[in-house]
Amino acid sequence: MATPKKTLVRAPESAAPLVQPLPAAGPRAVLRPQQPLQHAASVAARHAAPTGLGLDSAGVRFRMVQRLRAEGLRHEAVLAAIAEVPRHRFVDGALVTQAYEDTSLPIGHGQTISKPSVVARMIELLMGGANARAGQVVRVLEIGTGCGYQAAVLARLARQVFSVERIKPLHDKARELMAPLRITNARLIYGDGMLGHPPNAPYDGIIAAAGGDAMPPAWIDQLAVGGRLVAPLRDEAGRQVLVVVDRTERGCERSVHEVVQFVPLRSGLVR
Ligand code: SAH
Repeated sequence: MATPKKTLVRAPESAAPLVQPLPAAGPRAVLRPQQPLQHAASVAARHAAPTGLGLDSAGVRFRMVQRLRAEGLRHEAVLAAIAEVPRHRFVDGALVTQAYEDTSLPIGHGQTISKPSVVARMIELLMGGANARAGQVVRVLEIGTGCGYQAAVLARLARQVFSVERIKPLHDKARELMAPLRITNARLIYGDGMLGHPPNAPYDGIIAAAGGDAMPPAWIDQLAVGGRLVAPLRDEAGRQVLVVVDRTERGCERSVHEVVQFVPLRSGLVR
């Protein structure tokens, strides 16, 4: 497959807003947020850690989203999803007060929950290209569920989310943390994401939350024509950069974006 290499910094389409409701007919029917904001906030409040943050968590998230917007993140649907998902529910009690800072935090097993700005940026990229022209991304594969935060955000934007995690205790933890949010369109899979997830391929979007030295061939194989993949990857200079691959009728187009810092992509399973 031809892979013309375009080296770009910051794709202009990243700021394009998602086209909002289309008729539910056709192969790419529109997705609505899964729960109204108020409901998400009340669920978050009910399960809040005893720090008092939960009761006002919608307000704290709103301020975080304002900061993300000020930093240049402009995809309104992505920002709305981030405003709805209670990130403090996905971190340990002792870290709850940092949950709405733009920082990655430990989630155990040597792994981290990604920075909100990086989650927003990657999903913004994922929803660009042909997915933006289609108005949405229908079926998404996430590699690296971790605690499930990004999967919960994705579930508000895509019709179906499949998320693979190789560390069993994290897979179990994500299942537990996502359950109270009553997300019905995300499936968590315990497996080696380097192999993708063939049963539900092809995907309109593939997003990796762990960075390797080379792109696993299975990801490209499982990307739909018109689909887009976003993944951290090591470049020739040894830096980890965000790479976007658009699969078209003619082959794959690759663009390279900003430097990032993700945990390593590893093969095999951890029990
Ligand atoms: N999506 C998370 C980020 C988790 S950190 C969030 O919402 O913040 C990245 C995760 O990728 C880790 O949990 C790590 O175990 C996982 N990972 C690394 N290599 C993997 C592989 N080959 N298959 C599946 N998961 C993998």
